Amino acid sequence: MSLVNEILNYNEEFVETQRYKEFLTTKFPDKRMVVLTCMDTRLVELLPKAMNLHNGDAKIIKNAGAIVSHPFGSIMRSIVVAVYELDADEVFVIGHYDCGMTGLNSDHVIANAKKRGISDDVIATLGHSGINLSRWLTGFEHVREGIEKSVNIIRNHPLLPKNLPVHGLIIDPQTGRLDLIEDGYQAVDESHT
Ligand SMILES: [Zn+2]
Repeated sequence: MSLVNEILNYNEEFVETQRYKEFLTTKFPDKRMVVLTCMDTRLVELLPKAMNLHNGDAKIIKNAGAIVSHPFGSIMRSIVVAVYELDADEVFVIGHYDCGMTGLNSDHVIANAKKRGISDDVIATLGHSGINLSRWLTGFEHVREGIEKSVNIIRNHPLLPKNLPVHGLIIDPQTGRLDLIEDGYQAVDESHT
């Protein structure tokens, strides 16, 4: 059975037996928070459980590395929408140790794409079109550096209020332990003095 069919079969039973009932909630986050975190498989259940987040508690945005790479990209837009349209009052950027974006090497990614049939011509054409693949496909040296950069972009965003706490944390993908590396309350206080 294909994965899609397996999922659809399961889904039919899920809906029929009304197992959705325990998840019913609204689109507004009860804890008035938005989380940007990594797509890592180990965090799928671990991160919400380690933070005591249940359905309805938070807006959760995910990408590779919990990185805000552009102040006007889709991640930043999601945060702006969460704040102004969905009543999120705090932002949590949560990276994790042993992240696949640590030391991501663009040459390695491109070599793998070529093995899957992407031609040199395509790579060259993208380069001539002004797309800097080596920058686009680069992660960070250390997760802390990635978090700090993302937190800074959000804190200094021209469309976000200065009193919005933006926290930076790193989660252990085995134990779920959280280390606070950027305290958003402190940063807000300091910006007022
Ligand atoms: Zn990761």
